Amino acid sequence: MALIGSGSKFASLEAAALAAAACVDCGLCMTRTQVVFGRGNPQAKLMIIGEGPGQHEDESGLPFVGQTGALLDKILQAGNIDREKDVYICNVVKCRPPGNRAPESKEREACLQYLQAQLFYVRPKLILLAGSAAVQTILQVKDPISHIRGKWFPGENDARVMPVFHPSYLLRNDSKEVGSPKWLMWQDIKEVRKQLDILNR
Ligand code: SF4
Repeated sequence: MALIGSGSKFASLEAAALAAAACVDCGLCMTRTQVVFGRGNPQAKLMIIGEGPGQHEDESGLPFVGQTGALLDKILQAGNIDREKDVYICNVVKCRPPGNRAPESKEREACLQYLQAQLFYVRPKLILLAGSAAVQTILQVKDPISHIRGKWFPGENDARVMPVFHPSYLLRNDSKEVGSPKWLMWQDIKEVRKQLDILNR
C-alpha cells in the first residue's frame, strides 16, 4: 500500500503533531483526554506502530506507558535498543478508543494522515507492527499475527516491515517456554537487533 507515495499534507512532523492535538476528524475526539501523537527519536531507523492509546497513554499523552510500556521497555532493553535514542513509537490512531476496543476502520482512515506524516518524516528502515490494527493498516492483510509475526515484508522507501505480538498480548501470556509468545518475541527482537547492526555498519 502506498501510504506515503504522495508525501505528507503537513509541512513537518511538528506541524502534523500540532494539527493532531486539535483534531476532531473522527468520533474518538469526543472521549479522549489528550491526543497521543508519538515519542522517541524522529531520526531513528526503527519505528514501532501500535494500535491506539490505552488509559495510561490517554492520561499521560505518551504511547506505550503503564504495564504495557514497561514490558515494551524490557523487550527493547533485552535487544540493546534504547527506547529514546533508537526507536520512534506511535500508534495507528492517536486518540483512545473507549474501553480499549480496537479502532474502527473509519477511525483508522481518518487518522491515517498523521501516520503518513510520521512515516514520511521519520523514514524508518525497519517497522514493527504491534497488533492486528497496525498490520491491517500498513500491510492490508487480516492474517492472525501468530501466522505472520517474525517475517519481513517489503515497505515503502526500502523499509522492511515485521508484524510482532502486541506487548499487551504478551502480558496475558506469561510463559517463556520455547515456542511461547514471549519466546517468539525474543526471537523477533534478536532479528531486529541483527538488522539494526547491519544498518549501522
Ligand atoms: S483519532 Fe486521529 S482522526 Fe480521530 S480525532 Fe484523534 S487525531 Fe483526529
